[in-house]
Amino acid sequence: MIVKVRKKKLEKMHLYFYILTMYDAIVIGGGPSGSTISRKLAEAGYDILLLEKEVMPRYKVCAGGVPSIIEDMLTVDLSPIKEKEIKTIILRKGKKESKITFDAPVLFTVRRDFFDSYLLDLAFRQGVEVKYEKAIKITGRIVITDKSSYEGKVIIGADGAASIVRKNVFTPERWLKSVEAEIDGDWDNTVFIDVFSHFGYRWIMPKRGRISAGAGGLSRYVKNLEDMLYALLNEMHIKGLPSIYHYGYPIWFSPKSLVRDNIILVGDAGGLANPFSGAGIFTGIFSALIGAYSVDNFLKSSAPLEQYDYLLKAFIYPELKAAFRLAIPFYLLPVSFTPFSWIKNTAKYWGKYSGYITIRKKLWRGI
Ligand SMILES: Cc1cc2nc3c(=O)[nH]c(=O)nc-3n(C[C@H](O)[C@H](O)[C@H](O)COP(=O)(O)OP(=O)(O)OC[C@H]3O[C@@H](n4cnc5c(N)ncnc54)[C@H](O)[C@@H]3O)c2cc1C
Repeated sequence: MIVKVRKKKLEKMHLYFYILTMYDAIVIGGGPSGSTISRKLAEAGYDILLLEKEVMPRYKVCAGGVPSIIEDMLTVDLSPIKEKEIKTIILRKGKKESKITFDAPVLFTVRRDFFDSYLLDLAFRQGVEVKYEKAIKITGRIVITDKSSYEGKVIIGADGAASIVRKNVFTPERWLKSVEAEIDGDWDNTVFIDVFSHFGYRWIMPKRGRISAGAGGLSRYVKNLEDMLYALLNEMHIKGLPSIYHYGYPIWFSPKSLVRDNIILVGDAGGLANPFSGAGIFTGIFSALIGAYSVDNFLKSSAPLEQYDYLLKAFIYPELKAAFRLAIPFYLLPVSFTPFSWIKNTAKYWGKYSGYITIRKKLWRGI
């Protein structure tokens, strides 16, 4: 009994002892969304603490396809971490296939261990304090980790698919189930996407000396993803022993708000992955940039943090809504009822800014 009381007292002392520094913002998670928002806020002169549970570089299950526009959005040179620049997209549904080669690259691929640690290093160089600690609980302005506790005026949840910060804000409604294989080998600078009926797809993304291949779809509908993936590897004569990873994450489904009191959510923590393609790096980074702008206004002039929701609705949600509306007929209709123009246009605008809005407009015009 005495031992128990002492232990509790010690825990309390430990908590008060460490609440010494008040940060302007504490960012939980050092993926692309977390490192971008923290770098931007540090650039604006704020004291930022970033907590990351894994020591970088760490493996992250991801095909690593990034739209080329990201480089301009981040205003940093990404050439050191680019694996392959992609000019050709092949999109297939059943026997209908569209192959489009662009004049300039529309995507590049990355290895997430290198990409994420590169972005985190840029944040660190900008003055962000990085601590390898796991956030366990948020109470008001206090973040309790496995090692200590910290206080921040704003708490930013950038802790990905299994976010603990999200519990304080909302519950996502749709989840994507995926399986990914990393295989040593070579594949040319082409991205291959194969849609199969009932909300599923498979892909091949080339890296340097490595191929990322996978299958994914809405968790409610897709089954046997591993079998689908092995069938694709066989069909494409991709040999070698793949390392297989399973991963689930939320996709966008019109959340009411990603803000609660002094907390905001960015990237996968906010369930911002694209409901058509499952891609979340672009929306994660975009939400981080909008988030940095909103947090800056909150800290410097007490503008409501809800400005973040407003900007998401103005700049990101229209594109995600268009992607969602495209996904329903595209994945649900049998191949024979899917016009070839849909497949061609979707390939043509893959990776483009506002691409899904453009595709939707074009689909209904039948161009
Ligand atoms: C199989 C697969 C393929 C994909 N392919 C693509 C693709 O080709 N293109 C694309 O754009 N997107 C793709 N995605 C989606 C993409 O991986 C995510 O959308 C993206 O990683 C989101 O970035 P983020 O920074 O929000 O979260 P994450 O990258 O998940 O980063 C979150 C970070 O938070 C850390 N963390 C978690 N919990 C805690 C905690 N309690 N305390 C401290 N730190 C914590 C984690 O260690 C992690 O480093 C794919 C996903 C999967 C599963």
